[in-house]
Amino acid sequence: MTNHPPSIIALDGPAASGKTTVGRRLAEKLGYLFFDTGIMYRAVTWIALDHDMDMQNEELITQMAQSAQIDIRPPSQNDGRPCDVLIGGKDVTWDIRSGEVESKVSAISAYPGVRKALSEQQRRIGMRGKVVMVGRDIGTVVLPEADLKVYLDASAEERARRRYDEIVERGEHADLDDLLKKMIERDRIDSTRAVAPLRPAGDAVIINTDELSEDQVYTRVLEMCE
Ligand code: C5P
Repeated sequence: MTNHPPSIIALDGPAASGKTTVGRRLAEKLGYLFFDTGIMYRAVTWIALDHDMDMQNEELITQMAQSAQIDIRPPSQNDGRPCDVLIGGKDVTWDIRSGEVESKVSAISAYPGVRKALSEQQRRIGMRGKVVMVGRDIGTVVLPEADLKVYLDASAEERARRRYDEIVERGEHADLDDLLKKMIERDRIDSTRAVAPLRPAGDAVIINTDELSEDQVYTRVLEMCE
């Protein structure tokens, strides 16, 4: 590690591995920018769905990703959102979390042109430092020079259960088996794609969070920073 505390922190891992919660707390504690890169892939997917675009049309989707105006701002409402996500002035904070977006996002994220467009923006922001960046390929591709790389993992069953609890807590209906199936499928696409697949960087610290509470994971990562 070159900096104390590390200036560029990369936090990767599969869906619902706890990256966002830990990353957000860590950024707050260190006074860093928290950047959840999944928002960008979800936003591009939402735009494609909203415009009824042909999801197989890689060229069209790539062009759209290159010019998409995705705005991320401090939360305007106290409904559990970490930030506002705006597209063309419309608040899509919760829309990008829908089941429809979730079922398409991995296919869209596998397009090399989409990845290039989004990861260049992520890199530009990350290289300013004092940042906790969360995603799938931050330590491997977006910011390989990160001072600290952490890869959070957990079994698909545990991750599906956590996602289930989150949804039910928001007062919405969820089906655990369905969530598990979809999560396994998303992991499969994310980790087998040709460009920037989900995998830990060679120099990442891997933490399996199956048996750990959110607090324990956070404390462990914070200790690595201090
Ligand atoms: O982290 P989150 O579940 O919000 O990410 C949604 C999807 O976006 C992932 O399943 C993955 O397909 C894609 N993604 C990605 N690279 C990132 C972040 C997210 O491919 N750095």
